Amino acid sequence: MARKQLRARKYVYSFGAGKAEGDAGMKNLLGGKGANLAEMCLLGIPVPAGFTVSTECCTDYYAGGCRLPAALSAQVLAALARTEKTMGMKYGDPEKPLLISCRSGARKSMPGMMDTVLNVGLCSATIPGMIAKTGNPRFVWDSYRRLIMMYADVVMEKAEGLEPAEGKGIRKIMDETLDAFKHSRGAKSDTDLSAEDLKALAEGFKQLVEKHLRKPFPDDHMAQLWGGIAAVFKSWNGRKAVSYRRIEGIPDEWGTAVNVQAMVFGNMGDHSATGVAFTRDPAAGDNKFYGEWLVNAQGEDVVAGIRTPSPINDDTKNEQNKHLPSMHELMPATYRELDAIRTKLERHFRDMLDIEFTIQEGKLWMLQCRVGKRTGTAALNMAMDMLGERLIDRKTAVTRVAAHQLDELLHPVVDPKAEREAAPIVKGLPAGPGAACGGLVFTAEDAVAAHRAGRKCILLREETNPEDVEGMRAAVGILTARGGMTSHAALVARGWGKCCIVGAGGLHVDAVGRTARVAGSDVVLKEGDTVTLNGTRGYVYTGSLPMIDSTENPRFQKFMSIADGFRTMGVRANADTPADAGTARAFGAEGIGLFRTEHMFYGEGSDQPLFLLRKMILSSGSAERAGALRELSVFVKRDIKATLQAMEGLPVTIRLLDPPLHEFVPQGAEKQAELAAALGITQEEVRKRGEKLHENNPMMGHRGVRLGITYPEITAMQVRAIFEAAAEIVKAGGKCRPEIMIPVTCDVNELKHQKALCLKVYEEVCKANGVKKIDHMYGTMIEIPRAALLANRMAEEAQFFSFGTNDLTQMGFGFSRDDIGGFLGDYLDKKILSADPFQTIDQDGVGQLIRMAVEKGRSVRSGLKVGICGEQGGDPASVQFCHNSGLSYVSCSPYRVPIARLAAAQAAIASMEAGKNGGRRKPAKRAVGKAAKKTAGR
Ligand code: ADP
Ligand code: MG
Ligand code: MG
Repeated sequence: MARKQLRARKYVYSFGAGKAEGDAGMKNLLGGKGANLAEMCLLGIPVPAGFTVSTECCTDYYAGGCRLPAALSAQVLAALARTEKTMGMKYGDPEKPLLISCRSGARKSMPGMMDTVLNVGLCSATIPGMIAKTGNPRFVWDSYRRLIMMYADVVMEKAEGLEPAEGKGIRKIMDETLDAFKHSRGAKSDTDLSAEDLKALAEGFKQLVEKHLRKPFPDDHMAQLWGGIAAVFKSWNGRKAVSYRRIEGIPDEWGTAVNVQAMVFGNMGDHSATGVAFTRDPAAGDNKFYGEWLVNAQGEDVVAGIRTPSPINDDTKNEQNKHLPSMHELMPATYRELDAIRTKLERHFRDMLDIEFTIQEGKLWMLQCRVGKRTGTAALNMAMDMLGERLIDRKTAVTRVAAHQLDELLHPVVDPKAEREAAPIVKGLPAGPGAACGGLVFTAEDAVAAHRAGRKCILLREETNPEDVEGMRAAVGILTARGGMTSHAALVARGWGKCCIVGAGGLHVDAVGRTARVAGSDVVLKEGDTVTLNGTRGYVYTGSLPMIDSTENPRFQKFMSIADGFRTMGVRANADTPADAGTARAFGAEGIGLFRTEHMFYGEGSDQPLFLLRKMILSSGSAERAGALRELSVFVKRDIKATLQAMEGLPVTIRLLDPPLHEFVPQGAEKQAELAAALGITQEEVRKRGEKLHENNPMMGHRGVRLGITYPEITAMQVRAIFEAAAEIVKAGGKCRPEIMIPVTCDVNELKHQKALCLKVYEEVCKANGVKKIDHMYGTMIEIPRAALLANRMAEEAQFFSFGTNDLTQMGFGFSRDDIGGFLGDYLDKKILSADPFQTIDQDGVGQLIRMAVEKGRSVRSGLKVGICGEQGGDPASVQFCHNSGLSYVSCSPYRVPIARLAAAQAAIASMEAGKNGGRRKPAKRAVGKAAKKTAGR
């Protein structure tokens, strides 16, 4: 027993030659890359052999104080031996040396965030053998100089935690040396350098390493291997990886796997190549094979944007690359092979995949496949296409578009009419769709600063790299002069659904001088200049062009109706005007969850009602107040009636006056004078009465139901307006369903008090209008923790609850909503809180209040309707929480209604699936297979 426990954990999983110890289901352990390499092997797709060191090993590495676990060494050596056997070469062998790559790979892809080292194993002992074996010294020296560049950067500098000043990193120094060298040889491209050149360059690089990193470049293949493995683990905690995880919400505990894999070479000459492809167009979603490749190049060259990549086929040709030969033209047989793999992979994974491949002297090898990032538009089109192709079912289709991606579909595009009349100053590749307009900035730091200052900016870079991620996030749009559709900028922007144009080759960017020259013209763009990007076409304009939104799309409508078929929770909108109500309905709202009465006192057309409200507030006695209220009620009734009509019988929750009255006291002398005249008092008296209303803490002061308790006539007026509006609609043969909502309550006695008033008015209105009944409800907002705690009592009077999660969060946390700007940033940066609780419900704390209130409320009134009307109602994670908490509906701003509908449908599907699996997250593979057979047999 004791011995068995001592037996080490299995850290290493081999793959190669049609066999694998792992599979696609093992992403948590093997990372996405490792799991899918194994799966591709199992599918019989050609993959260079290798092995994956698990994420558990990474976790253990960190737990052990950054030391590789003792048990790892033997496992790695055994797996390496297996790889050697499969590939028929030996690592470190002077005659037939095997070279390997050390590749990072987390559970979720983090493009370019962590590091990979290629050509590991080249050293003085193996170089001659490599040259003899390939007969291609140029290739060997090219590979060697690449190894030195990557290894010095990744293993010797970054992994050691060295942080040289901007532009002083070893990689940058070597890149500059390479550029200078090319220049001195009159070489345009890397491929123009000779074997001798590359050899000299490699020697120079080694000297640079000694000089700058004060350590020799390791000349031992085993030292290189272990250095590479540890460096990949270390890169998990590199600055850029950590910041990416924070943005994407990836837990630090996951760790990364390391994939050690036999090298195959795309840089062996003109019959070798490397490329990246998507099984469908990731920007528009069309069912077209889409990819880029480079002849005589190694992996990273395509992504790095060093050379303009060529299209793999006609479908991928565009303005920038149409003159370059496609793979289809140059290597038709290999292209067909790749195309067949594309089909095989799509059928197997039933999704669009992002693939990496290398061709070594005519032989095709697959190096990676993963579910590809796509824009919202592409996600929608692919889901609908694959549904049509019967690749996926309706339920899967609904889960294929992330709820937040809809944002992008609902977002503006450049008005085509305006665009027709404008001339682009430069064109690039359409990497991220939609439109963006803002002031130019030239560095990531400037983008972050502009964003902080509340300015919209477009980040213009020569090309982006992972260090720019925060700035890319902060910008409304991204523009680069270099790089293709698979460049860093394109991948990241697409993942976020951000407007992005890459490879706008006509721009000559001077990041230091903060200017960009437009080739062939005398246009010079400067920092702060406004530009508009059309990311769907890749066009850049100066100035700001008008935009329109893109919801009329019939595919979008169809998709949403499929989603609605799965949804069990209602979705309403927060709307304060008849116009908003109309918008909300167009977006599919099934009612209004929050109509704020006070809205009619703000903005356009509010002069008269606001004046009357002020008159009411500043009146000295109840008779005066009653007079003002009577006049005011006309306006209140008008707005409510129009809104009820717009909703045609759908429920409308009308919240009675909520804000503290002093907010409405006029500050300007002119308004004060006007009011004084109307009230027949002096301006001084107006000022004095206003002062009396002053409160130290108005948010917790005389507001909400408290106004109705002090001035029952204010409640009565509003309720009368509601019932009269409803009675008129009913008498005219229409339908309506007002729901009266009492805000800021903390005790059932408040509800009793107000309910008695409502009832009295209700009877009066019915009688006066000769109607028997007006369909309505009476309920309350739950936004004070005490109300949640006493929800069972509240439910005795309330027929519905609506969680005002803005205030509930404010009071639950004791954070002033209006003052969080001062500290919330620190809370997030220092990871005190993982998210802004005003944007996404704090499920642990505030969520507990909600769940408890639902349960307590329904314990006394089983049919209690429960909704939420805070900002979080449109946040997908919050919507899911609401679904799981048994809420009847969520209510959010009209533009977020589709997002909430989709998120609610996905939540329903997720709980359906969880139910099917008896609560287990993932079905065991075999069980599914059996079940499937059973049904098929029936
Ligand atoms: P990333 O996760 O940043 O894409 P990868 O591990 O996929 O990093 O590697 C970077 C590049 O190196 C890719 O283009 C990949 O195809 C290439 N590459 C990795 N391993 C090998 C290998 N064994 N043989 C040839 N090319 C490789
Ligand atoms: Mg990759
Ligand atoms: Mg409130």
